[in-house]
Amino acid sequence: MIRDSLKYFYQKWQRLKLPFLIYPKGNGRKFSVSSEKMKEFNRVRFHGPKKLACYNPFVNLYFNSRGQAVVCCRNQDTVLGTYPENSIREIWFGEVADKLREHLLNNDFSMGCSYCRHQFETSRFYGLPSMHADYYATTKKGYPKIIELELSNTCNLQCVMCSGIVSSSIRKCRENLPPLENHYDENFVWQLKEFLPYAKEIKFYGGEPFLIDTYYKIWDELVNSRSKAKLHVVTNGTVLNEKVRHYLKNLKFTITVSFDAMNKELFESIRIGADFDKVKSHIEEYNVLLGGKGLSLSVTPMKSNCREVPKIIDYCNSLNATVNMSFVENPADMALWTLCSKELKEIELFYKEYRFSDYHGVNSDYNIKAFNQFVKQINVYYENNKKREDEYFQNLRTEDECRKILSDTLNSALKQNIIFESDKKELLKIINKVESGLSGFQQQIYFGNLAKFLEEKGVEPIKELFIDGLDREKLMHNLNSMSKMPDIYNKSYKEL
Ligand code: SF4
Repeated sequence: MIRDSLKYFYQKWQRLKLPFLIYPKGNGRKFSVSSEKMKEFNRVRFHGPKKLACYNPFVNLYFNSRGQAVVCCRNQDTVLGTYPENSIREIWFGEVADKLREHLLNNDFSMGCSYCRHQFETSRFYGLPSMHADYYATTKKGYPKIIELELSNTCNLQCVMCSGIVSSSIRKCRENLPPLENHYDENFVWQLKEFLPYAKEIKFYGGEPFLIDTYYKIWDELVNSRSKAKLHVVTNGTVLNEKVRHYLKNLKFTITVSFDAMNKELFESIRIGADFDKVKSHIEEYNVLLGGKGLSLSVTPMKSNCREVPKIIDYCNSLNATVNMSFVENPADMALWTLCSKELKEIELFYKEYRFSDYHGVNSDYNIKAFNQFVKQINVYYENNKKREDEYFQNLRTEDECRKILSDTLNSALKQNIIFESDKKELLKIINKVESGLSGFQQQIYFGNLAKFLEEKGVEPIKELFIDGLDREKLMHNLNSMSKMPDIYNKSYKEL
């Protein structure tokens, strides 16, 4: 309550600056943000209005597992330099970094910032990767205030929605690829020592950070220098050893644990290789080691586990942990946005009827708000997919229309001596047999697709069917595949 009030007054006070800001003119640059757009953005900016759209090149340094240094996760095209070919000093104080700074001093998104450009064009400012850097907003050339490290893909799990680029186990066992090259050596840690005293926040990603040796060396450095930097780790929760306990007690950590179900079997079918009971007990010990603050659970709602979300929020509330929703874009077949509107509506209703356990604690309100936002997002998917479905069915031929097209095509094939009367009867028998095995919804799609196919191809496919004698099994298989709706959701998702 007090925090919310402080937040409210802080934002109000910051807004007072809004009319007095003078924005960079862009000097005729094609992708420079207009003053109107900046005003719109500044109205919703948590850390108050600012002249520039993004301060990341001045405050944030991000190393990825390919040895490349960038200024944020969304701009992987502008590589400041590559370790070990370039030293960290050369990278941060180098020409490419300066050029990107010069672009963003003009609010110019043309140097690899296409993600933010798109978000600005569509006025979707929520969750921009520049928001966090606002806290340290400066254009002075100094050391980075935030360092993000994604140094290795070393990971012991093979989560179903993940890929080899972030899991060494998937790369080896599922993708049958050789390990990624390790770019970061002792010398990297040695060079980083110059930067560590200036960093206010350091974030450790994986792979699984608690399995990455280089991170242990960095944490040793930070313990020795009695660092007060805020450290953040995103972990799968499978590792908790004596060393980790030591770091958690002696450094200022916050932890996000990926946690996708309260049901053991379901959890283990998603996070392949993890033991549910062990992860849960680690979560509870992390929470104790963090002194009951700074724990967050990251849920990845997919088709298989979306009904677990409220239960995980109940669990978060019981731990005074925050929830973090991580949406799956790909693989599309696991993602919620590819569900049909009927299923999305059912899930939305399920969420709306869910009654949370009694909760107290500063993070519970936040969690319920995050949940409500998630439910709104489900509704957005529903509205979009419903619209697509309506359009699709409106343009679909009916069964009667399809039967007329079918009859005309078969008669034409008869006239051209492609088939005999007995073949025609056989074909109709197979078509009807497939129809009888389908539900009403599928039948509608089946006839619509069949009509479209015959209209486009005419008698040609019928000719091909009889060249080497009619293969009934193959024909039934092909006809069955016509009962599936084409991917009508892809376009709708891109428009979101
Ligand atoms: S992609 Fe966005 S957040 Fe990243 S540097 Fe460019 S403008 Fe900033």
